[in-house]
Amino acid sequence: MTAALTLYDNYTRTQRRFEPLSPAGPVRLYTCGPTVYDYQHIGNFRTFLFEDVLKRVLRWNGYTVMHVMNITDVGHLTSDADTGEDKMEKGARRTGKTAWEIAQLYTDDFVENLARLNIEDADILCRATDHIAEQIAFIADIERNGFAYVTSDGVYFDTAKQPDYGHLARLDIRGLEAGKRIEQGEKRSPTDFALWKFSPPGERRQMEWDSPWGRGFPGWHIECSAMAQKYLGDYFDIHCGGEDHIPVHHTNEIAQTEARVGTRLANFWMHGYFLLLDDAKMAKSAGEFLRVQSLIDRGYDPLVYRYLCLTAHYRTQMSFSWEAMDAAVTALDRMRRGVHALEEAAQVPPDAAYIERFTDQVNDDLNVPRALAVAWEVLRGEAPSAVKRATLLRFDEVLGLGLADWSPRQDAVPPEVQALADARAAARGAKQWAEADRLRAELAATGWEVEDQSGGYRLKRR
Ligand code: AMP
Ligand code: ZN
Repeated sequence: MTAALTLYDNYTRTQRRFEPLSPAGPVRLYTCGPTVYDYQHIGNFRTFLFEDVLKRVLRWNGYTVMHVMNITDVGHLTSDADTGEDKMEKGARRTGKTAWEIAQLYTDDFVENLARLNIEDADILCRATDHIAEQIAFIADIERNGFAYVTSDGVYFDTAKQPDYGHLARLDIRGLEAGKRIEQGEKRSPTDFALWKFSPPGERRQMEWDSPWGRGFPGWHIECSAMAQKYLGDYFDIHCGGEDHIPVHHTNEIAQTEARVGTRLANFWMHGYFLLLDDAKMAKSAGEFLRVQSLIDRGYDPLVYRYLCLTAHYRTQMSFSWEAMDAAVTALDRMRRGVHALEEAAQVPPDAAYIERFTDQVNDDLNVPRALAVAWEVLRGEAPSAVKRATLLRFDEVLGLGLADWSPRQDAVPPEVQALADARAAARGAKQWAEADRLRAELAATGWEVEDQSGGYRLKRR
């Protein structure tokens, strides 16, 4: 018998059986979306890939999914301690555009890159700035229930009023209090956080609204509590984000919702662990970062990155390297060619034993690396060709590698492109750098990219 779906819940710190809260309805899933003051880096997309696989595994188990993702386009300050500048206003200054313009620009780029990685869209993609009224109403309820206080710069959540504040992160509140390492300002406790911030006196922000407490903007965490409540209800099935959300953002979302309605917001709390670059966390604020476009610029198909992410379990950190990308190029290429060479026959069912083994793996807290190993076994195994194909295409409903659509023609280099590349190689050989650059630009215009390698070059689609 196939194993039932079990998922690791960070709130209880256990891997436990997943059962939807409403057996008849869809599984209700909320995932924290991007802060759109800059491009998303491939680390961010590792988390979105994990969430995509989660959705696909839920569907593999016969559930329908109602997925809500937010776009943070206001209120996320440069410091998690409620000090510093709004990332949006800072991004606007950096680019010379308005905060509203950069929100649109980076949201569009985000959505485009989801598609490049075969990440399915959320059912509802909602912006914080479109839900200011809901956030104000939420804060008003929190205040009415006695969990808020007002200082000279905003409305704050009083975490001392909640005995189990910080449970998700197992926060050591007393340790924090004793150390007082965190800059506290007028906050009563270092863990208190902003629900609403006032616009600085005498200053007009690009994004600001009237509220019962004064003109200003919402704190970062309230948007998720308010939008999750609006679209998914007070208590829903699964809430996800990256591991950095455990100690602050998700901890505070839980606090807000508990203060308002007394429930703990979501049944399962799942977190994608970080992508590391040179053993350090990849972060936008740290300056240099890699985008999906950076991969394409270096000649990689974005689905190679998807494949690479599938080879590591979502609850382990993963180090990024170009060597690992190159190994994924080879593996994905082999898998695509392998599947393409299989016989296509209608009405041939997948191999039931392999489907069961694959299910056992994905149902074991999304053990996709092991599930991928099962796919390789099928490809290399002895089953009839058409059965292998039917089985692998079923697996691809979870893996999302687009195996059915791929054909070697996608990689075939047209003769005129080949001629341009050869001419460029000759120009380089003769040290005619300007001519070589001109030919590279001409190649780019045909949609191809040349990558120099020791002893030759490689052509790739842009
Ligand atoms: P942000 O745009 O900063 O709000 O982040 C978007 C998502 O990416 C959140 O779920 C973060 O937790 C996640 N995230 C941020 N950095 C990384 C990283 N290096 N690796 C994986 N996920 C990340
Ligand atoms: Zn959130």
